[in-house]
Amino acid sequence: MKNTYFTPGPAELYPTFAHHLQTAMDEQIGSISHRSKQFRDIYKFTDEQLRILLNIPATHGIFFTGSASEVWERVLFNCVEHESFHLVNGSFSRKFYDYAHSLHKYAHVLEKPFGEGFDYSDIDVPEYAELVCLTHNETSSGVQMRPADMHKLKRKYPKKLFVVDMVSSAPYPNLDFNLIDSAFFSVQKAFGMPAGLGVWIANQTCLAKAERIQKYESITTGAHHTLPVLWKHYQTFETPATPNVLFIYLLGKIAEDFNRIGIDTIRKQTEEKAKMLYKFLDDSKEFQPFVTEERHRSQTVIVATTKNPAEVLAATKQAGLILGSGYGSFKDTQMRIANFPAVSIEQVQNLINQLKK
Ligand SMILES: *Cc1c(COP(=O)(O)O)cnc(C)c1O
Repeated sequence: MKNTYFTPGPAELYPTFAHHLQTAMDEQIGSISHRSKQFRDIYKFTDEQLRILLNIPATHGIFFTGSASEVWERVLFNCVEHESFHLVNGSFSRKFYDYAHSLHKYAHVLEKPFGEGFDYSDIDVPEYAELVCLTHNETSSGVQMRPADMHKLKRKYPKKLFVVDMVSSAPYPNLDFNLIDSAFFSVQKAFGMPAGLGVWIANQTCLAKAERIQKYESITTGAHHTLPVLWKHYQTFETPATPNVLFIYLLGKIAEDFNRIGIDTIRKQTEEKAKMLYKFLDDSKEFQPFVTEERHRSQTVIVATTKNPAEVLAATKQAGLILGSGYGSFKDTQMRIANFPAVSIEQVQNLINQLKK
């Protein structure tokens, strides 16, 4: 029997993935040159599909990296001369902040306890912070920040660059890229692919900033894939080094499948499944939703508190349903349920029925 993965990354593969992989094999995508027209057409196609899906305007470029965490470093190198500002409420947003320290940036932080989220009214951005680092979906705690709050914040601080980690939620959040300068994700979460590709979206204001930083001798933008170099190659839909051609192809195909369904439908289905799961947790005696504030509850990674999560995980595994354990030290009290497009309403209902047992 095949398992269904409700794990928050790597996750259940999107149902069309195997078909696209077979096509890629048939077309020998793994062997084509990244300097060929065939590759440029693949990059262009994936770029077009992601633009439609996420409503990305022409001011922004779309670049490929090895992972999302690589983008933490790239964006800090290229968009921060001295000071960054981080909203931290879990392990992933904290790592982003840690990267800033490691790169010798002066990193400001506003921190909330695990399980709590940020609202517009909580936030004062420090005067000299150049880059505001937001995490749309804190995968460790199951907390989301609403895009409306992000947009309001940018309107209050229009001169600062805003970057959004949308790794465990894209394409769900409806970001306004006329306000958001940069965002990034990796493919092993809600896009339903195996790990191995990061996607970095950044606008011309980010590019101009990187070019300005490169003029100073004392500050480096790094050696590997600086934004100006990525952008230069992007003009012809190429990459500085040999990229993951296969995955760029597959991402374009999955994004096309999402576009056929329509992003509005995908968002509605995500909300419908999340509602089913939260309702079950709210009504249950054995389980409780970890995040108490409804507006901060993640729609894509649902965290539940329960007495003996290891036992629950073992029992659901018997039924072929693989759940995520609580993050780090929360293993003993929590479990995580990924609600990505790859799992259907029927599969979520099946999981709820199992959990009721
Ligand atoms: C998984 C995750 C990352 C890291 O992604 P990688 O592809 O493993 O580098 C970063 N941020 C969030 C919110 C994540 O969930």
